[in-house]
Amino acid sequence: MKCPTCGKEMRSKVRDYEYIESGLKNVVLKNIRVHHCKACGELLPEISNVKQIHAWIAEYLLSKRTPLTGDEFRFLRKATGKSAKETAERLAVTPVSVSRWENDKEKIGPQSDRLFRMAFIIDAELPPIPLEKCLETLRFILDQAATAPRKLKPQRIEIPPRAIQKRQVDAHE
Ligand SMILES: [Zn+2]
Repeated sequence: MKCPTCGKEMRSKVRDYEYIESGLKNVVLKNIRVHHCKACGELLPEISNVKQIHAWIAEYLLSKRTPLTGDEFRFLRKATGKSAKETAERLAVTPVSVSRWENDKEKIGPQSDRLFRMAFIIDAELPPIPLEKCLETLRFILDQAATAPRKLKPQRIEIPPRAIQKRQVDAHE
């Protein structure tokens, strides 16, 4: 495979990949095939099932006790396909609030955090969650979401090979 940036031949290797394209700085895709260009440093991961990976990340974020960070809120909002304005209407807040949350200029309050997570379950343009899992997640959100203190640095989110693997194998056949 030729490097799209400089045209040199790329090498490929199975390794961990920091998935910054998600807009989150702490997501690592474990053991995926990554093409690397020694000449210019370009890295190209083989990601064929973005929706499945995003569903996994979303599930993780909905089930965290700490409040959503700006990046996490933006990631989830984008997965609903809604604009900041539409999301603001959903949550009965102003678009300015949504923008301030996403840019970490203001901390999202626990009520908006919970409502947003619950609305996400209905709005997400991702593979649907089974009903039983939906109810379990809703219970968690009402009981525990946004109850833990904010952390300075969000925990690393590791996406295991089983969340990625199947279609990756298909892609090589
Ligand atoms: Zn290159």
